[in-house]
Amino acid sequence: MKFAQARKLPVAIRGGGHKVAANAVCDDGIVIDLAHMQSVRVDPVTRCACGEGGVLWREYDGETQAFGLASSGGAISTTGIAGLTLGGGFGF
Ligand SMILES: Cc1cc2nc3c(=O)[nH]c(=O)nc-3n(C[C@H](O)[C@H](O)[C@H](O)COP(=O)(O)OP(=O)(O)OC[C@H]3O[C@@H](n4cnc5c(N)ncnc54)[C@H](O)[C@@H]3O)c2cc1C
Repeated sequence: MKFAQARKLPVAIRGGGHKVAANAVCDDGIVIDLAHMQSVRVDPVTRCACGEGGVLWREYDGETQAFGLASSGGAISTTGIAGLTLGGGFGF
């Protein structure tokens, strides 16, 4: 971010990379690709789950369902949890 800011470059964040409008990328700027941020932590006591920015719904659902938990995420498993949660669309 500091590198881009110093050079006045546009920055785009890529979560799951699923959005057809492709606003996760930009021209002549920097894309921060979160694809390798794949950790999902589930606390079965509080029934809360926390996923990093590159997690897709299929991985998130796999981890939470192992504890008998479900979230109202997207119906399409290849959608990123980040983009959908920030205003992607609709789901279950
Ligand atoms: C075939 C298809 C099926 C779909 N099905 C569903 C569905 O069943 N339910 C539903 O709700 N939606 C659905 N969508 C829409 C989808 O939810 C949105 O496109 C969503 O934004 C994708 O999120 P992503 O993280 O995969 O996308 P990306 O393309 O990575 O990101 C989408 C936007 O969010 C921003 N963003 C992503 N991660 C971050 C972050 N960590 N911080 C800040 N900004 C971030 C990106 O910059 C970009 O502007 C579908 C889309 C397609 C093409």
